[in-house]
Amino acid sequence: MGSVDTLHEFSFDDMKKISRTALGDAVPIELYRAIRLIGMYQGLPMKGKGTTLTVGRKIGESLAVQSVQELLDLFRELKVGDPQIVLEEENRLHIAVKDCFCVGLPEIEGNLVCDLEGAIMEGALSKMMDKRVSVREIKCNVNGDDCCEYEVRL
Ligand SMILES: [Zn+2]
Repeated sequence: MGSVDTLHEFSFDDMKKISRTALGDAVPIELYRAIRLIGMYQGLPMKGKGTTLTVGRKIGESLAVQSVQELLDLFRELKVGDPQIVLEEENRLHIAVKDCFCVGLPEIEGNLVCDLEGAIMEGALSKMMDKRVSVREIKCNVNGDDCCEYEVRL
C-alpha cells in the first residue's frame, strides 16, 4: 500500500501509458476546448491568467524535447496546432500556429484564448535553454486574426 512519502510524480512519458481497450487513445477536440475555454478561460478568475501560466509552464517543463524544432513537432503531433517560425531575430522569435485547436470558434474581438499553449512553449524553452524565456500571445483566431501567433523573447 502506498503512503504519502512514496508519492509518485507523473511524467509526460507516463501520460503515454494508455491501457484502454475499447475507447482508444484520443478524446474529441470539443472536450479539450471545454476544459480550456469553459473551465479555464471562463471558469477561473481573470480569465485564468496566472493559473494558465503555472499549469502551462509545468507541462512544458515535463516535455522531453531538446530543440525548438522538436517542440514544434510535438505540438503538431499532439494536434494542438501546426506551428511555424515566421520571424527569427537574435533575441526574438515569432511562432505562428495554423490549425490551432481554437480555429472555427465564434470570434470575440479582444479575446486571445491560447495562452496556456504559449505557457507550455515557455516552460519547454526555458528548461531546454536553461534561461528565462517569455512567450506572449499576440494573435488569436478568436480575436479575429488570421492565425494564432506568439512572440518568444529569449
Ligand atoms: Zn488559438
